[in-house]
Amino acid sequence: MKKKIALALAGLMMLGLVGCAAAPAAAPAAAPAAAEETEEAAEEAEEAAEAVEEAVEEVAEEAAAEDAEGFTTVQEGYLTMGTNAYFPPYEFYEGDSIVGIDAEIAAAIAEKLGLELKIEDMEFDSIITAVTTGKVDMGLAGMTVTEDRKKNVNFSESYATGVQVVIVPEDSDIASIDDLEGKMIGVQLGTTGDIYCSGDYGEENVEQFNKGNDAVMALMTGKVDCVVIDNEPAKSYVAANEGLKILDTEYVVEEYAAAISKENEPLLAAIDAALAELKADGTLDAIVAKYIPAEAE
Ligand code: GLN
Repeated sequence: MKKKIALALAGLMMLGLVGCAAAPAAAPAAAPAAAEETEEAAEEAEEAAEAVEEAVEEVAEEAAAEDAEGFTTVQEGYLTMGTNAYFPPYEFYEGDSIVGIDAEIAAAIAEKLGLELKIEDMEFDSIITAVTTGKVDMGLAGMTVTEDRKKNVNFSESYATGVQVVIVPEDSDIASIDDLEGKMIGVQLGTTGDIYCSGDYGEENVEQFNKGNDAVMALMTGKVDCVVIDNEPAKSYVAANEGLKILDTEYVVEEYAAAISKENEPLLAAIDAALAELKADGTLDAIVAKYIPAEAE
């Protein structure tokens, strides 16, 4: 593939030369004959430029196609996904198996790539490291695309929107985001909820838990005043625990995507291609509708 890129570059250089050659010919346009010649030369140059451009495009397309096929995975034949399986409805345990939107999207991607899906459950905070150190092929965990994370991993195209919301006890005096000042906020360690709250309200006002559920338990027992977490898990937690509600005001709106090693551009291309197909053929919508019925209405 490197050879092809070199060829394409050579083509681009030629394009530059052709451009230069055409320029002086176009300048002296005094006599009609000269003008005609100039026009002809210009046309020829244009045609040559177009041919080179087409060739370059073709090479680039071929290279992209090769990339899409030429990916490697940490374990041959498998697509290994790193996640934190306490984030319903994106990933959660049903008996011994991890199910949910991300698990099903990953299975559909794996199928498109001719691979078998393998899911590794880990702390949310360890997923990016697992991707960068080659323990997993992709992190798929309702993970928000952030500039900071982009320094360490590549993100696929986004496949869902997430919203950071606030869970409070039904009788709480916290009525909106503006009331969070000075309150004790429970978050899941290393999540965007953690990052934003620590920045906005001070680390001393934020208590970090390894799992979202632990933060909600702390809220139930009055150890924290509220929990900032993504909207869909928030709905699950509120449904599962009496006496909680979600504030109407949205704290931050975000995009979820798969995190992939920067060393594995071909896998990124392959996953993006698979995601595009799953979006186009309605599979993605069907998976989301299965777990978030309200959105299908
Ligand atoms: N969307 C949040 C983040 O990326 C939380 C994800 C999670 O807890 N699984 O930080």
